[in-house]
Amino acid sequence: MENKEAINNIYIGSHVSLNAPDYLLSATKEALSFGANTFMFYTGAPQNTIRIPVSRFKIKETKELFKKYSINSDKIVVHAPYIINLANTVDSSKFDFAVSFLRQEIKRVSELGFKLLVLHPGSHLGLGSEIGCKRVVEGLDLVLEDDDSNVLICLETMAGKGGEVGRTFEELAYIISHVKKSERICVCLDTCHINDAGYNVDDIETILNDFDKIIGLEKLKVLHINDSQNPIGAHKDRHANIGKGTIGLKTLQKYIFHPKLKEVPKILETPYIDSKPPYKEEIELLLKS
Ligand code: FE
Ligand code: FE
Ligand code: ZN
Repeated sequence: MENKEAINNIYIGSHVSLNAPDYLLSATKEALSFGANTFMFYTGAPQNTIRIPVSRFKIKETKELFKKYSINSDKIVVHAPYIINLANTVDSSKFDFAVSFLRQEIKRVSELGFKLLVLHPGSHLGLGSEIGCKRVVEGLDLVLEDDDSNVLICLETMAGKGGEVGRTFEELAYIISHVKKSERICVCLDTCHINDAGYNVDDIETILNDFDKIIGLEKLKVLHINDSQNPIGAHKDRHANIGKGTIGLKTLQKYIFHPKLKEVPKILETPYIDSKPPYKEEIELLLKS
């Protein structure tokens, strides 16, 4: 009972898989089976860049299901593959590939009728975050140069492992403010990543105030709700199941129920338990006050 009332006012879901032959239609059914009203998916395998045309994704049937269950397309999240690196200054062919892949990815997201594309800013490969951030700005300018869609690139807050750019709000603010079409760049805040980056996740008021001062809260378009296997500042990025990590259920619930985060879709990316998705149980747990 409590759950149903709560979910009416909250956009919550998880990462779901996109599989042949029904692609987006089966992904949507998977999300619904978790009691979710939104979800996140990769347009193909997250670890590679092979993509089939979205015309095969069963868009029409999916949109009918969206209508039936009042799913809001504006809250659906697409995650770009994490192997592309827009911060790469070492190998320009890899940087060029990231740019052209992202141009195509934005077209796919737009064709599907979605708006939110989450992107890991990339790795500076040991050259320092200043060089990395500048390269990301250069890359995003190229990606958006000839693009007039309304897709928002949501840069994800990163844990800071292995030269990751985007470990601090300041780095993300730098990138956003230097991109020409800065209105197209937003942020995805991952609770596990900011914990591992050194932020005290439990102090949500400080987190949101800092975010607002440094980036602007209106830029926060996606939340990744994950517990962490590691203590604050570990720079590790190992997700834990809800309530089973160092962040804890009570703290994560602050992000689910905070009035300033009401419009922001909340996506779980916690690990499978015994090869099964834990999302139905974890969504229930999070919504229980
Ligand atoms: Fe991510
Ligand atoms: Fe994430
Ligand atoms: Zn992560």
